[in-house]
Amino acid sequence: MFIDTRRVDQGSVVNCSVCIVGGGIAGITLAMSLDKQNIDVVLLESGGFSSDEGSRDLYRGEAVGEYPYSFADGCRSRFLGGSSNCWGGWCRPLDPWDFQKRDWVAHSGWPFGLDELLPYYDRTHALLQLGPNNFDPEFWERSINRPDVRRTPLVSGKVRDTISQFSPPVRFGKTYRQTLQRSQHIRVYLHANATAVDTDQSAQSVTRVQVATLSGIRMEVRAAHYVLATGGIENARLMLASNTVQPNGLGNDNDLVGRFFMDHPRLLAGNIRFSRQWSRNKLSDVKYHYMNASVAAHGVHVAHQFALTPEVLEQERLLNARVWFWSIFPGEGSQGAQALLRIKQALLKKHQDDWSLPADIRSMVLHPIDTLGYGYTRLFRPRWLIQGVKFQIIVEPEPNPDSRVTLSPTQTDSLGMKRVRVEWRLTPRVQRTFDRTLAILADDMRRSGVAEVELDAPIEGQKWPASLEGTWHHIGTTRMHDSPRQGVVDRHCKVHGISNLYVAGSSVFPTAGANFPTITLSALALRLSDFLVHQIRGQA
Ligand SMILES: Cc1cc2nc3c(=O)[nH]c(=O)nc-3n(C[C@H](O)[C@H](O)[C@H](O)COP(=O)(O)OP(=O)(O)OC[C@H]3O[C@@H](n4cnc5c(N)ncnc54)[C@H](O)[C@@H]3O)c2cc1C
Repeated sequence: MFIDTRRVDQGSVVNCSVCIVGGGIAGITLAMSLDKQNIDVVLLESGGFSSDEGSRDLYRGEAVGEYPYSFADGCRSRFLGGSSNCWGGWCRPLDPWDFQKRDWVAHSGWPFGLDELLPYYDRTHALLQLGPNNFDPEFWERSINRPDVRRTPLVSGKVRDTISQFSPPVRFGKTYRQTLQRSQHIRVYLHANATAVDTDQSAQSVTRVQVATLSGIRMEVRAAHYVLATGGIENARLMLASNTVQPNGLGNDNDLVGRFFMDHPRLLAGNIRFSRQWSRNKLSDVKYHYMNASVAAHGVHVAHQFALTPEVLEQERLLNARVWFWSIFPGEGSQGAQALLRIKQALLKKHQDDWSLPADIRSMVLHPIDTLGYGYTRLFRPRWLIQGVKFQIIVEPEPNPDSRVTLSPTQTDSLGMKRVRVEWRLTPRVQRTFDRTLAILADDMRRSGVAEVELDAPIEGQKWPASLEGTWHHIGTTRMHDSPRQGVVDRHCKVHGISNLYVAGSSVFPTAGANFPTITLSALALRLSDFLVHQIRGQA
């Protein structure tokens, strides 16, 4: 059932068994899983069914630090479904070694291994509308069975190839709207902003969540269990802002909330000249993924990427990374091409702030050559029009306590909450991983006769290139560790020291790996659901 909080009585008190704050992938996954167990849930969602400027503004804040970092408009969506309204749908579970303690990566290691998540990863496939739970490149090459979709030979023994699957991408607020509407156990409060999570005087148990609408209604929710699922930046913000009893914020006795903020740094690099035999191969080129029919089987599109073997990572003391190819099309980056891409995203039902079809049509009409060149190449991909191929690479960010989300000392939003301040910092090992991953892959491609590669100058010890970007993956700010001195939540995603407060989402990841986070945060939400059911039934 949906309730418009702007229409509830001023000062209402709502009671339930589990209060989930945030209606994104984490919150909706958890709510729907608890629903199946007949558990009474209140889901608080800041936005409505679509984007609105007032809610969007609540996400704005300050980016500080040595390189620019965007985290508001277009980088997060604040309405039902959260950032699933704009995500790309890449899915791949973390690698087994992402969970391990690596002696060369400070603060690495999860409290459990990949095995613990396997049954939950399995369940995410239906939820995210993925294909078979199989990420073996050989299986996909065989299933796709096309001469122009082939795995390239890898000869050095240092590189492996991997597969990701694409969710269509599922927009959770749309795809699961009917399920939420019909549920007998879930009450979704829209336009309901959690502004504070209050505890008893000992700060050992949460007593209520305070809620406000932009129209001035205030209410509170009282529950047996509370789950924060507001995304990797907002989870920390809400905990830091809830400081009536604990001046440093909830669960922040050890000054960890908001620290270890991570996102996958991303770059385009190098120039690749394929040998004739491999020049038409589509498997590893991102431009042939998504809507193109070539790289798909079993009803799902897949992407193929390269990574270093765990042995090389250990020998060279590197972080994990993923690399794929990026064809440069005529008109790439031009206004006409950008307009065309936005229209494609609209067809994929992607939420884009301030998107205007007439404005994009105008851009295309004003830049006909760029638009037609780009569009034609994108559709038919004639080799002779492709102006070059580059690597695109994302690297695992190293956990770094100085990379952090804090509250702005000066700025508040329209609900009176302090805005966020985000300082994204990367370590020298991240730079070395960029350099070494590309150098080892380039060497392998040369030796196997797949391509000649001209690499860019190494970046280790240099200023980051201006083209450095994040990947909209907000990770680590409420990290998981068995010890409260090293983590905000325990292995069950429960906040240390507070008996009934949990966190869902990628903010609990202690390390980020080099795969996209959403399938893992969905698996963790399903696991948290099992744990809560057990707690609730145990108490009954
Ligand atoms: C452009 C883009 C592309 C992406 N592509 C991929 C990809 O290909 N693969 C991948 O794995 N990941 C991708 N991601 C990341 C992915 O979208 C996120 O990991 C995922 O959506 C996070 O889900 P969540 O539920 O934890 O948080 P969110 O999606 O951030 O949801 C949080 C929800 O909480 C609500 N909320 C916030 N604050 C409050 C409050 N105080 N009170 C009440 N409600 C509140 C918000 O409105 C929102 O609905 C992408 C992200 C972006 C922006």
